[in-house]
Amino acid sequence: RSKRRGRGQITVFSQEIAQEMKRSTQLEQALRTAVIADAVDAHFQPIVRLQDGAVLGFEALARWIDPDLGFVSPSIFVPLAEERGFIDALSETLLRKAAEAALYWPHDLFLSFNLSSAQLMDPGTSQSILATLAQVGLDPRRLELEITETAVMTSADTAHRIIADLQAHGVRISLDDFGTGQSSLGRLRDFTFDKVKIDRAFVSQITTDRASEHIVKAIVAMCAGLDLEVVAEGIESVADAEKLTALGCEMGQGYYYGKPVDAAATQRYLQQHYGTPRS
Ligand code: C2E
Ligand code: MG
Ligand code: MG
Ligand code: MG
Repeated sequence: RSKRRGRGQITVFSQEIAQEMKRSTQLEQALRTAVIADAVDAHFQPIVRLQDGAVLGFEALARWIDPDLGFVSPSIFVPLAEERGFIDALSETLLRKAAEAALYWPHDLFLSFNLSSAQLMDPGTSQSILATLAQVGLDPRRLELEITETAVMTSADTAHRIIADLQAHGVRISLDDFGTGQSSLGRLRDFTFDKVKIDRAFVSQITTDRASEHIVKAIVAMCAGLDLEVVAEGIESVADAEKLTALGCEMGQGYYYGKPVDAAATQRYLQQHYGTPRS
């Protein structure tokens, strides 16, 4: 009896695997089609100066709505594109769109763009990024690239060269999701980052959890000592913002200041907020 049940389970299990494979192949096909059709869009979320809420720049975030599958999160489709080897094509169209949108913003605002780990293992990445910027006509000094600790870990030599090359052209590098994942403080010593983004996991609990508060406080102090700018991610309330300001954090990002919206809505946001900081 137990044998039969066992066999049954195996059958169910392999059907699930088959289903899952079919789903991810379907997803991959849909995504490839979307990339070719230029249907993956860039949305933008403001990054502000905490003291007065003034907009300093925007982070580009990939958005894709498939006609059949509906909304698919970038935390699903970006890793899929990486795994299946077409992250370069996806990233290039996204950077082009994001850079084109940034041309219409006041020129003192920066564009922050996420790089995937696969791109930091590919020596051609810096050239392709600079070429896209040149084609669009966006000053490299207006670009910041967000990278994660995992990304610089896997292929450190190549990552070093890509980062140094881009920085030599004025591109700034920020370390995303700091404090989670494969965290190592050594990374801050071995790489020349310009900015650190404190992960939402700490920020979201800053008013309720003493440990999170102390961790953020320590990161802010450390960044000041290392001459790194610091951004808090995931600010959702005025209480979060006030706490972070009191801890000396300079910049912030989160739903409290604005959710990611498309290029046209970003223009409207700027008309309302640029140069008229809230206080
Ligand atoms: P990330 O770079 O850490 O981006 C921040 C994520 O937090 C975004 O999720 C953003 O919408 C979300 N977020 C911002 N403020 C708040 C808040 O106040 N509360 C909450 N709950 N969430 C907030 P999203 O857009 O789903 O992106 C997820 C991840 O996918 C990104 O994390 C990034 O790693 C990746 N990603 C997105 N777009 C791109 C892209 O163009 N290229 C690459 N390589 N990765 C991307
Ligand atoms: Mg990011
Ligand atoms: Mg982040
Ligand atoms: Mg994240």
